[in-house]
Amino acid sequence: MKLQFGKFGGQFVPPQVVTALNELEVAFEDAKNDSSFLEEFRYYLKDYVGRPSPLYYAEQLTKKLGGAKIYLKREDLNHTGAHKINNTIGQILLARRMGKKRIIAETGAGQHGVASATAAAMFGMECEVFQGELDTQRQRLNVFRMEMLGAKVTPVTQGTKTLADAVDYAINEWVKRVDDTFYLLGSAVGPHPYPSIVKYFQKIIGEEAKVQIMEKEQRMPDYVIACVGGGSNAIGLFTDFIKEKEVKMIGVEAAGKGLNTKDHAATMTLGREGVIHGMNTKAIFDEDGNVSPVYSISAGLDYPGVGPEHAHLQDIKRVKYESCTDQEAVDAFLELSRVEGIIPAIESSHAIAHVMKLAPTLDKDKIIIVNLSGRGDKDVEAIEAFLNEKQMH
Ligand SMILES: *Cc1c(COP(=O)(O)O)cnc(C)c1O
Repeated sequence: MKLQFGKFGGQFVPPQVVTALNELEVAFEDAKNDSSFLEEFRYYLKDYVGRPSPLYYAEQLTKKLGGAKIYLKREDLNHTGAHKINNTIGQILLARRMGKKRIIAETGAGQHGVASATAAAMFGMECEVFQGELDTQRQRLNVFRMEMLGAKVTPVTQGTKTLADAVDYAINEWVKRVDDTFYLLGSAVGPHPYPSIVKYFQKIIGEEAKVQIMEKEQRMPDYVIACVGGGSNAIGLFTDFIKEKEVKMIGVEAAGKGLNTKDHAATMTLGREGVIHGMNTKAIFDEDGNVSPVYSISAGLDYPGVGPEHAHLQDIKRVKYESCTDQEAVDAFLELSRVEGIIPAIESSHAIAHVMKLAPTLDKDKIIIVNLSGRGDKDVEAIEAFLNEKQMH
């Protein structure tokens, strides 16, 4: 089998799915070479999403930490509050180009479901979102949001009733109705060509950041840093910097309650090579080779696998992968809120937490760009619950 990223990637799926993936790949290659498609994508990014997102010099945080200069790439200011909309707009344009009338998507906490429902509403397409039953109960507000946007939310009752099961379910549903249905995948994961498609639609983040840092500092940054769930915001930021050899890159995953507990989602730090969701990558497996349940306070980082390109970038040592605990992320969440007046998503707070460790160890002339992948309004209740829990112990 052809692998796209060193020994990672591939299409570990039944033959019917391979046929559908091949059709998708042909359409994607064709779209990439069509200037009218790219023009339309850029149009919606600008006038609907609100790009380019600012590269903001976090002067107060920089001063407080007393080391490297910190810049925030403000994906939190996008329509719907995160980077995910870049990908959903791109894929829905692809769906329309392929003549599909119906969108299906998987979702964990509901962020990708909301972004998919948003794009589907705007393009007048039918949308069905599969969400683990447990997640539909934990994330009632996002279920309601998707429904307001005209989507149908279908609870998935198999397995652990969470994201990993919703992905399996969505792939099955896709094969049943592949002639009129497009599967809109939410992160840089899954069988080829999805990781490459998602990267293509997210790499705008790094392309903009590069132009913006050249304008502000007339040089490349020393570090670019992003949180890693499936890895879409990270690969989006990293891609245009990979060829700049002097730029160091760090992905930050969720250490949950600690790397020495079972409650973490530190795929790259503690996982091993194996197949999950149609790709060969790194993931957390138990002794029997089954995918293990993972945990993080952050729903967006609570995924047992990771995009295959990240597994490769770790292997070739181009990107370093670190982790932060729930506690460190919550501390960073509160710090950025208080010091800069910006409430970050709890996912993004993991990247900020790492910056808070790193910046003070660097000279003042060093530059860090960190991706603020989303805003934290959605997390306020979870943070409150975390703080109350702490107080009780
Ligand atoms: C979904 C999400 C993530 C994690 O997904 P990636 O594909 O790893 O980027 C990170 N940040 C925010 C704000 C999210 O909504």
